[in-house]
Amino acid sequence: TRVLLTGGSGFIAAHILNFLLQHGHSVVTTVRSQEKADRIAAAYNGIDRERLDFAIVEDIAQEQAFETAVVSDPPFEVVIHTASPFHFNIADVQRDLLDPSIIGTTGILESIKKHATTVKRVVITSSFASIVNGSKGFWPEHTYSEADWNPITKEEASQNAVNGYRASKTFAEKAAWNFIEQQQPNFTLTTMCPPLVFGPIVHYLNSLDALNTSNQRIRDIVQGKDQENLPPGLWVDVRDLALGHVLAMEKEAAANKRFFFTPGHFSTAELAEIVRKNFPEFKDKLHPKSNAGDAYTKYGFYKINIDRTNRILGIPWTSLENSVIDTVESLKAVGL
Ligand code: NDP
Repeated sequence: TRVLLTGGSGFIAAHILNFLLQHGHSVVTTVRSQEKADRIAAAYNGIDRERLDFAIVEDIAQEQAFETAVVSDPPFEVVIHTASPFHFNIADVQRDLLDPSIIGTTGILESIKKHATTVKRVVITSSFASIVNGSKGFWPEHTYSEADWNPITKEEASQNAVNGYRASKTFAEKAAWNFIEQQQPNFTLTTMCPPLVFGPIVHYLNSLDALNTSNQRIRDIVQGKDQENLPPGLWVDVRDLALGHVLAMEKEAAANKRFFFTPGHFSTAELAEIVRKNFPEFKDKLHPKSNAGDAYTKYGFYKINIDRTNRILGIPWTSLENSVIDTVESLKAVGL
């Protein structure tokens, strides 16, 4: 299958690219610069340009950003849209988070409808951020599933970067489903809703300082930054999530569905415990030192219903221990 993958320089997209090529698909991935294209190409040295090629899309917040990238010969059958800002280092919520996320999503859907009528399936990387209700906290009596939508408003979005990020994912995913309903395009949509993603970084793209946001949690624990008050949450391994994207495009039953994509909870204390057990060289620096702050075992936590994901995508979930071990190994390789 001929696939357009956006945001090829990203942490998650790098693993999606791996699975796409392993599954025999042919891929064009968008990146913001030729330099990033060259680094990815070098890592896939033996692969011919029929199977892996690049398109430069500098800024997805521009309305017409994808007009030419969606056109290829042979034409695309699937688009996987991962590109979206995920960091909290921003000056302006609208410009730095909402615009690239929302315009990036509606822009690519419009370009596909206009110029890539052979596309049958679009898979979008949404987030648990578009499911979770931040005002409810640990909400022990609630079970989250695909039926939940984050009720965040535009006003709350502008209050801080975390709200801004969560709103950027919520509004973009809603805009995508609205597009399908109103425009009735030739393609079906699948959205993936993962929480915090851990897992090995791809060395040709990352350094310890320019680490993707979600893995900073593990780096900070190992480096002994104060983690005592960080709340527990849900997590998923990047390889499971990447495989999930590829299965979502391959399986007919995934059409027009949202997938809540997580094997379960983690706490910062658990992460530290896994590092302590498997990497004795870090044991003196590690933070937290004990599992005293392990709030979710103490107070209870929201539950999850992942029946749809298990039934349709059937992921053999990676264990938290293996995910953390592989993450730390990959960070050691870049100087942790
Ligand atoms: P990364 O920061 O590694 O990847 C983000 C990608 O988006 C990069 O390729 C980046 O390009 C690209 N991008 C961001 N802004 C723009 C822009 N204005 N124009 C063009 N490209 C842009 O993060 P992840 O891999 O973690 O995130 C990928 C997707 O997964 C995002 O949609 C994110 O919201 C979602 N997600 C991530 C989770 C996580 O825990 N990691 C959890 C839930 C969802 P460049 O590197 O060149 O800036």
